[in-house]
Amino acid sequence: SELTKNNIVGTTQQTVNYISQRISKGIEVNFKTDVEEFNIKLNESLYSWVIENLMKNAADAMQNKGVLDIIIYTQNKYVEISIKDTGSGIPSKLQKKIFEPGFTTKKRGWGLGLSLAKRIIEEYHNGKIFVAKSTKETGTEFKILLRK
Ligand code: ADP
Ligand code: MG
Repeated sequence: SELTKNNIVGTTQQTVNYISQRISKGIEVNFKTDVEEFNIKLNESLYSWVIENLMKNAADAMQNKGVLDIIIYTQNKYVEISIKDTGSGIPSKLQKKIFEPGFTTKKRGWGLGLSLAKRIIEEYHNGKIFVAKSTKETGTEFKILLRK
């Protein structure tokens, strides 16, 4: 696997469309972007895997009903991908732990999705992934930052 120039807007949209069809119909998925094309060095399949995992975690947190927004904001030198759900939220004292391998609150969880997502985004792509905001009233927003 390697990093190649890729339109992250198109890749994100394709992944969102694909996963939308595979999560509960009670979840409204919205995709928004400020541009149609933003080319960065990316491992397309690893990046898509990260988006898939964040969307599935969001679906789990919403228990089959809610709104999931995936929004792309671009700047000159970097892109921000926001994945925001209306689910249960993450208690603030757990917001660091969720990225540790093996941490899960699910009966059938492996607790590996976010730890791998962090490695893929931060070590492999030199980007950032973090909880931007999370409350039990409004749900959770994850953000990914990637440089051009
Ligand atoms: P798993 O999905 O197997 O539990 P992850 O690494 O993907 O493993 O997630 C770890 C934990 O982080 C989850 O068990 C859950 O407690 C929490 N979490 C992740 N995403 C969300 C979310 N969008 N809303 C609420 N909690 C979340
Ligand atoms: Mg998961």
